Amino acid sequence: MTPAPAPDQEADPREPTPITTALPFLNQDNNAPPPTSTAPTPPNLHTPKPLLRLECRDLSHPGASLFLQHHHPTIVLTQALSSVLDILYRHPDSPPIPPTRSVTLVLRALDGVAYTTSLDLDADHKEIHLNTSYIASIPSLSVKNEIQGVVTHEVVHCFQYNGHGTAPGGLIEGIADYVRLKAGLAPAHWKRTAEGTWDQGYERTAWFLVWLEERYGRGFVRGVNERLRTCRYEEVGFWEKCCGRTVRIEELWREYGVWLGKCERGWGVSG
Ligand SMILES: [Zn+2]
Repeated sequence: MTPAPAPDQEADPREPTPITTALPFLNQDNNAPPPTSTAPTPPNLHTPKPLLRLECRDLSHPGASLFLQHHHPTIVLTQALSSVLDILYRHPDSPPIPPTRSVTLVLRALDGVAYTTSLDLDADHKEIHLNTSYIASIPSLSVKNEIQGVVTHEVVHCFQYNGHGTAPGGLIEGIADYVRLKAGLAPAHWKRTAEGTWDQGYERTAWFLVWLEERYGRGFVRGVNERLRTCRYEEVGFWEKCCGRTVRIEELWREYGVWLGKCERGWGVSG
């Protein structure tokens, strides 16, 4: 969510050594017999099993206590991964799932809410840094849902494509919040608006993606993610291919604004 700090910011020798725990997947039955079918599972339908790890820099921090009080780390991560797979990948036409090999959830005090970064040596290893001070500030009634929502947003970043680094940051953030929204984890304060630009990111772009999905059909956002796997992002042409017609994204944003206005005036539009 917030920009990742420079990697060397993490190498402060004054910081205590973090506790690192490898987390087993739940429901993994090591005694189960091997599957009888030898048919290979399509790459976009198999369930990846990245190594999940937890680092807690300060177990005495109130935010760390709240996290552990409301969530089992394995469950919060596996549920988030399941949402990402269901919404972006679980379809025969979906792109192959990125080969992320590990996700480490780091609970620590930092600026902002959370961010995701890759290890310098191997981009297939991801770290999600979640601010314990932010967790401690969440109203108690929404803390469980908010943590699940933020983790889901960040797990999208571990498994989404980005046009080989060329996609607008607002589109990347919008897809992450689109998944959070479709997973039923949108906070109550999220509101649809067409003010500003379509690529301001987060829930503003996420709601726009919901509208585009309704307009252009189920799987539209999956298709956007697929195109970001195979192509570099160039505004001219990108949305034409996603929508199947000649159109500029700003034009769609304006149409979305008109539609929203009609909704707010209670004209009973649908789509
Ligand atoms: Zn983000």
